Amino acid sequence: MDAQQLIALDNAHVWHPYSAIGADLPIFPVVSANGVRLKLADGRELIDGMSSWWSAIHGYNHPVMNRALQAQMEKMSHVMFGGLTHEPAVKLATRLIELTPAPLQAVFFSDSGSVAVEVAMKMAIQYWHAKGQSSKQRFLTLRNGYHGDTFGAMSVCDPVTGMHSLFSDVLTKQYFVDTPTCRFGEACSDDDIAPLKQMLEQSGNNIAAVILEPIVQATGGMNFYSADYLRRVRELCDEFGVLLICDEIATGFGRTGKMFACEHAGISPDIMCVGKALTGGYLTLAATLTTHEVSSTISSGEPGLFMHGPTFMANPLACSAALASLELLTNSDWQPNIERISVGLGQGLAPSRELDSVADVRVLGAIGVIELKRSIEMKTIQPMFVEHGVWARPFGRLIYLMPPYVTSDEDLELLTAAVNRVASKIE
Ligand SMILES: *Cc1c(COP(=O)(O)O)cnc(C)c1O
Repeated sequence: MDAQQLIALDNAHVWHPYSAIGADLPIFPVVSANGVRLKLADGRELIDGMSSWWSAIHGYNHPVMNRALQAQMEKMSHVMFGGLTHEPAVKLATRLIELTPAPLQAVFFSDSGSVAVEVAMKMAIQYWHAKGQSSKQRFLTLRNGYHGDTFGAMSVCDPVTGMHSLFSDVLTKQYFVDTPTCRFGEACSDDDIAPLKQMLEQSGNNIAAVILEPIVQATGGMNFYSADYLRRVRELCDEFGVLLICDEIATGFGRTGKMFACEHAGISPDIMCVGKALTGGYLTLAATLTTHEVSSTISSGEPGLFMHGPTFMANPLACSAALASLELLTNSDWQPNIERISVGLGQGLAPSRELDSVADVRVLGAIGVIELKRSIEMKTIQPMFVEHGVWARPFGRLIYLMPPYVTSDEDLELLTAAVNRVASKIE
C-alpha cells in the first residue's frame, strides 16, 4: 500500500485518539522506529520527543527487549490467568513489589492504565464494604487531574478540562478540590491544604479514597506541585480514615527523577497504579498494587473475592517485556541519566523563556514543558514540528517533551532547538 492510499483509507475508516473520522487532519504514516528515531513513509526521520506517550523509555527496536519477547513467544504468547499461573507474571509481581514502597504487597495486572484505575477504585470500595462501611463509595480528587477514559476513571478526571463534560450526567458525582497552587520545590501552607481538609471533614464518611497523580498532573496541564502538599494529603487520609490512591501511570519508572513520584514526598499510597512505561512501550500492560491490609480485608470480607478479572490478565508476552524493561532500567545508572536529560532540557529550552508567546518554561526529571500564553491549533503546529525533524504532540497551551531515556546530549540539543524554533513562530 502506498502512503497516499494508506492515509486515504485511514482517514475514511480508522479512529485515532480523540479524533474524528473524515476530518482530514494531518497524519503521518510511520514505517519503522529505531533508537530515538521514527522513520516516516516518505523517508524522513524524526527525533522522538514523546516516548510514545511516556512509554518507550528505552527507545524503539531495542535488542534486549526484542530478544526477551522472542524467547517468551517460543514458549507461549498467552494463556488464561484463571486457575493458571506462570513465571513471567510471578517474577514481575515480585519485582514490582521490590521496586515500589514497602507496604505494597499485592499486584493486580490489567491491560491498560484506565482499567488499572477502575481496579484501584473498586479495591477501595470493596475494602470499606468488607469493613462494614458501605457508605464510603465516593472519591476525592484534584481539579486538572487525568486518570483515563473509562467511566470510573472519567468521573475523577477534571470535570471541565477533562474532555468528558458531555458525559457528566451519567458519571458518578465525585468530590473535587482545586489544583494545589504550591509548586514543586515549595512548601505547602495550611491555606494550600485547607480545601482538601475541609472536604474530608465534611464528607469523609462518603469517601473511599483520595485519588491523585503524585507531583505531576500530566495530561491535565503538566503541573508540577509541592511534595509537601502530597505529604500532607497522606497525613489527612490517615487522620480521616480514607485510602490514598497514587496514579503513577505517567510518573512511574524514573520519569520525574525518582523511581516513583510519591518518593519525592517520602510517602507511600494504599493503592498504586502503574502503566505506560511498564513494558518500555512494547505492549499494553498495567498493574494496580495494594497493601496487605487492603488485600486481606477484601479477601476476608463479603464476598471474599476481588470482583474483577480481565481476559488477557497478566499476558505472558507483556509481562516478559516489562521484566526486560525493568532490568534495563535498574541495571543502568538511571538516576544520573535522568538528571543529565533534565539539565539538557533546562538548558535547551531556556531560549524559549524570552519569547513573548511563552508564559512559563519548567522542567522536572525528564519532562520539559513550555507553557504558551494562548492555545495552539494542533492542525497547524503538528506539521511544523515534523518539518523541523521532531515528533512532539502539544495540546492546549502546552508544548512538552518527555524523550526516551536513551536520548543522547546531541539529540537533546536538536530536539530542544527545533522546539524553540517552532515556539518562536507562534504569535
Ligand atoms: C495515560 C494515563 C492514564 C490512562 O492510561 P491508558 O493506558 O491510556 O488507559 C491514567 N492515568 C494517568 C495519570 C495517565 O497518564
